[in-house]
Amino acid sequence: MTDPETLSVTIVDGYVDEPAHFGVPPYISTYPRYTAGALVDAGVPREQITYHTIDGLRDDTNRWRDVDEADLMIYLGGMTVPGKYVGGTPAEPDEVRKLAWTASGTSLMGGPVKFGVGDENAGATETERQDLDFDFVAKGDVEAAVFDLVESGLEGFNNRMRDVDEVSRWAQEGAFVVDQHPNHPNHLIAELETSRGCAYRCSFCTEPLYGNPSFRPPPTVVGEVDALSDYGVKHFRIGRQADILAYGGDGEAPNPDALRQLYSGIREVAPDLETLHLDNMNPITIVEWPEKSREGIRIIAEHNTPGDTAAFGLESADPVVQEENNLNVSAEECFEAVRIVNEEGGWRPGEEPTDAPTFGDDAPRRLPKLLPGINLLHGLKGEREETYERNMAFLRRVYDEGYMLRRINIRQVMAFDGTDMSDTGAEIANEHKKLFKRYKTQVREEIDNPMLERVAPPGTVLPDVHLEYHQDGTTFGRQLGTYPLLVGVPGERALGQTIDVAVVDHGYRSVTAVPYPLDLNAASMDELTAIPGIGSSTAGDIVVDRPYESVADARVDTTVDLSQFVTTRPLERVN
Ligand code: SF4
Repeated sequence: MTDPETLSVTIVDGYVDEPAHFGVPPYISTYPRYTAGALVDAGVPREQITYHTIDGLRDDTNRWRDVDEADLMIYLGGMTVPGKYVGGTPAEPDEVRKLAWTASGTSLMGGPVKFGVGDENAGATETERQDLDFDFVAKGDVEAAVFDLVESGLEGFNNRMRDVDEVSRWAQEGAFVVDQHPNHPNHLIAELETSRGCAYRCSFCTEPLYGNPSFRPPPTVVGEVDALSDYGVKHFRIGRQADILAYGGDGEAPNPDALRQLYSGIREVAPDLETLHLDNMNPITIVEWPEKSREGIRIIAEHNTPGDTAAFGLESADPVVQEENNLNVSAEECFEAVRIVNEEGGWRPGEEPTDAPTFGDDAPRRLPKLLPGINLLHGLKGEREETYERNMAFLRRVYDEGYMLRRINIRQVMAFDGTDMSDTGAEIANEHKKLFKRYKTQVREEIDNPMLERVAPPGTVLPDVHLEYHQDGTTFGRQLGTYPLLVGVPGERALGQTIDVAVVDHGYRSVTAVPYPLDLNAASMDELTAIPGIGSSTAGDIVVDRPYESVADARVDTTVDLSQFVTTRPLERVN
């Protein structure tokens, strides 16, 4: 029998990415935090718990010693949605195997990896679970498995799900591991779970495998934020739920009181938080309970930080696909939900919420508080050429009728065991690959680009952009938050720093921006010519005639309001 007090444990985070749960840096998912909390609850002293990310192990081979020497090594991972990542590289199956081989103690694997791992993390794949040579694989909740395994003296556990009381304790007790994350404290965003399960049964989705929704009461989520905030976390995403509007209700209808307790409670315990975003809102909830939903959306928009996105799983605007895959919302209903979120959440800091949605010359130059995002999924049963046309028509209508979308996410289906899609697999997605590619380009060019200009017009200020990488003489970075815009800043600036920027131009899903406010006395030619209305000869004149006492002093011949971008004062920060 192994005494928990003497146990040394290493947790390795290979990252997770689920439809409603992010874990690739800068995100930290709930898995390592809850697992650490379950260990502490089972009697393992905190100082004997080591946490490494897979990138941390790649960066310093000495850290593998912790994998080798731990009495218990826990691997957490699994990607159930396709994606490409800048902030970290998810563990490859060979690396996961190497972890199992390296561990001299007991090894346990858990997380969404239990749903299966594809050969590569891509769409249009079928998946199958492999045990990758671990002693134990948690087929229920890994944190429950860890708790039971430690209690049994590392003998074994029964696969089970954890209950709400357990998760409430473990979420708070495990908050301490965040300070072992390489991105801690400034470039880290904690994913928060408010519920699991879903009242609906879409054919492709793994969420119904968790059953009907069960909600964590507001005080337990607020307590977790309090604990994370004590460990220096300033960025939060309420991402782990099928539908934030249904939070604390009967499973389907909104309960604005619970939302108010949740959001105001978070603001109370973490008054200095810098990001509070969400993910996943079900449009059908808005259509069926419009008044309660409007109230819920208003509460969210009052407490969140700008640039927030309520991702809607429309998946398909084609009624045939909707019918065959048990999708719960029609294109018409989704349009109605887009309108309502725009009307309640589409205002910008510095203006009245009742003005929403606002864009154009008079709108304040900040991102709207809360806008819808649209998820479209391809390769579903019944998909035909017309499906692509219907999706395009839906998106055109949103634009033409004057509404905003913060993000359009188009992907191909991954077919998981246990979902209805597992019989069809990737067959339709593979047949339609060419069509898919053409349509994706069309959406980017015809919708994404003008929509982005509407959401973030030139002059829009994006505070705290974290500079991440260089490419072709440009520095790219993003804000922390839900689906942040990719920002390109002219020139190669030092990476790892955080700057405020003002948007000057738009791509399909990215913007070009200059540091804000740009100092006329110090700006480079590249930065000056990036500003709309300043060509290279004007920029050259500005540089030659420096220094200036004021912007007006520079006498720049342009029709653009330069004060949106430049200053001659020392740089100030935006809050
Ligand atoms: S509504 Fe459908 S896609 Fe969304 S979580 Fe529920 S089952 Fe999954």
